Amino acid sequence: MDRVGTIFNIQRFSVQDGPGIRTLVFLKGCPLTCLWCCNPESRGVKPDVLFRKMKCLGCDRCVGNCPKGAIRSVEGGRVIDREKCDLCMECVRKCYAGALETAGEEKSVTEIVEEVLKDWQFYGNSGGGVTLSGGEPLMQPEFAADILRECKRNGIHTAIETCGYARWEDYEKLLGWLDLVLFDLKQMDSKMHRKVTGVPNERILENLEKLVRAGKQVIVRLPLIPGINAHREHIEKVGRFCQELSIAQAHLLPYHKLGVQKYEALGIAYPLEELGAVSDEELEEFRRILEGYGITVTIYNHS
Ligand code: SF4
Ligand code: SF4
Repeated sequence: MDRVGTIFNIQRFSVQDGPGIRTLVFLKGCPLTCLWCCNPESRGVKPDVLFRKMKCLGCDRCVGNCPKGAIRSVEGGRVIDREKCDLCMECVRKCYAGALETAGEEKSVTEIVEEVLKDWQFYGNSGGGVTLSGGEPLMQPEFAADILRECKRNGIHTAIETCGYARWEDYEKLLGWLDLVLFDLKQMDSKMHRKVTGVPNERILENLEKLVRAGKQVIVRLPLIPGINAHREHIEKVGRFCQELSIAQAHLLPYHKLGVQKYEALGIAYPLEELGAVSDEELEEFRRILEGYGITVTIYNHS
């Protein structure tokens, strides 16, 4: 069976999400609502409609053609009532200015693997492959497993980037086809984790441990958010935890605001106040702390 799932992007020639040159496949749907999320359009499993105010010409073709009466004209833009909208995408088709966009589309496993195979030669030369990201790939576990299996059948190195919040039975569906796990560690304190992501972290830490025990290569990824987890004490906790599990690699991902305009396009408020940046000195300090626990650190900006 050629399974179909929902993705919101395929990005070729990535060099920050696993070894070598990689193709990233972004699956839609995420169980978390991280305050700093730079892909808010990834949260729902279904497609979404984005409205780009800057491109709007004010013609109101969208308003007049919406069969559900879900779009209205307001000063400075158009507002979509997401309760009424049934995602027919008629407004997107009618908007010649390109101010309305669809985020998310259905693709079959075959279509995705065909796209991934286009760069087969680059993977071989660079030690790269495919990385399933999101959203959270485990929100569509059978679809993710089928993509990974077909990639492995074609001799391609496979990785997932996961937030860790999924049923272990769903991870098990992927394990036979998976070479590398990029595992997000956002906050070691469970109460704080719930406050900033919407869920506690016990299941996440348990899944991390199980993946290591299952013999998977794991790299932890730490989004560094000022005032939330970008401080010495938290990095020490991460270091101790990783050392106990013999995790040897970490990626540091300093906070950026690249996703802010997407919040406006979805008609939702950006949840964080103005935050400063993590300084180079702090990044070096965090690197030294983790290296003290035997962890090799790579710093990525704007991943
Ligand atoms: S159809 Fe496009 S350009 Fe016209 S009002 Fe709607 S969003 Fe703006
Ligand atoms: S997707 Fe369809 S229902 Fe939703 S706002 Fe556009 S035209 Fe209306």
